[in-house]
Amino acid sequence: MTDRNDDLFSAARAVIPGGVNSPVRAYGSVGGTPRFLASARGAMVTDVAGDEYVDLVASWGPALLGHAHPEVIAAVQEAATRGLSFGAPTEGEVELAELIAERVRFGDVRPVERVRLVSTGTEATMTAIRLARGATGRDLLVKFAGHYHGHSDGLLAEAGSGVATLALPGSAGVPAPIAAQTLVIGYNDPEALAAVFAEHGPRIAAVIVEASAANMGVVPPAPGFNRLIADTAHAHGALMIIDEVLTGFRVHPAGFWGLQAEAGEDYVPDIFTFGKVVGGGMPLAALGGRADVMDMLAPVGPVYQAGTLSGNPLSVAAGLATLRLATPEVYAKVDAASLRVSGALDAALTAAGVTHAIATAGSLFSASFRATAPQTYADAQAQDTFRYAPFFHSLREQGVALPPSVFEAWFLTAAHGEEELQRIEAALPAAAKAAAAATPRA
Ligand code: PLP
Repeated sequence: MTDRNDDLFSAARAVIPGGVNSPVRAYGSVGGTPRFLASARGAMVTDVAGDEYVDLVASWGPALLGHAHPEVIAAVQEAATRGLSFGAPTEGEVELAELIAERVRFGDVRPVERVRLVSTGTEATMTAIRLARGATGRDLLVKFAGHYHGHSDGLLAEAGSGVATLALPGSAGVPAPIAAQTLVIGYNDPEALAAVFAEHGPRIAAVIVEASAANMGVVPPAPGFNRLIADTAHAHGALMIIDEVLTGFRVHPAGFWGLQAEAGEDYVPDIFTFGKVVGGGMPLAALGGRADVMDMLAPVGPVYQAGTLSGNPLSVAAGLATLRLATPEVYAKVDAASLRVSGALDAALTAAGVTHAIATAGSLFSASFRATAPQTYADAQAQDTFRYAPFFHSLREQGVALPPSVFEAWFLTAAHGEEELQRIEAALPAAAKAAAAATPRA
């Protein structure tokens, strides 16, 4: 007998490649049928069969406040009554750009002087790279193995997220001359960084880096590594693009850069990219940076970028409401929830005798099934990945929804209260036992 979820997945596969509109949603590496969701509220999601789960996916990051926060929903509803899209400037997008610029600061250091709103993180990083090339007159881009920056052509080489989950080296359909413009080096490897600049320095436009890697599991930068990137790039006349699509406004009011600045690591990237939380669950992303660099964008400068739906009024309303509600108390709550769940995860895996390491970047964390926390993509791949599927399914059967890949971060929200945290804590020991009992797939 099939249930409604199975029927929907069959129907989806007949009309949508793989039945999903983004590969990470498929249960490729964990097996089974993706759950079709019908609604989400607070820390909970509900599938089409009516089953509820404590959600640790948070729409892959945006739901910092929890799902369907009443004030965010009200702001979107109110905006909708005034029209869905104008293709003209609006007051709200000025307010949102100002708010972004205002938040990304540490003392007198305000690296985001101008902001351009776009619709997806992919667009933000793609535009940031074009901008860096236009500003420097150079072509080459340095990226790190295991880092994910969206799905534009030049960024898929040895990428994280779904590319890592599917164990792909890159993507078909990317012309070799475009792929050749991206130089991929190992993360947290100062020598590789020095070597790539020694060999190609005068031709490198930019280094793009996740503020903290979180798409090969969470792999924070080694102390001083982000600063080294900034110093090395600047010494060679190249720019540093810091990708805060996932971390921005999630791990700290000023993003991972702000967290590091507060901890004394002072470096100033040239271009920031934001997404996810900044749109509060609606399609919105942004890039921002120094005025002289950002003003290279059309219509002021020669670097073209555009979008029919850029700065969409509903997305802007959701982003504004979300950022205004994302107070220090919200971050403190998410931090505390994250600490509690990662602690319970550690305890459950230890009690079950599962070799593991937990890595954190602010409130983001993930566990890898290896003895030490990964520093590089090669490390992240060298783990007992086969333990994740039974772990994941055990939690799901107990009403806890994890990302369907060991290479993704766990996302807590400000809506995870005592009841939800206790449900997670109660479910972890059995899931850890399932991980312990797992054997490599033949
Ligand atoms: N950059 C990072 C660090 C991401 O995590 C993601 C998405 O997960 C992207 C860029 C791409 O964003 P989007 O999926 O909105 O295109």
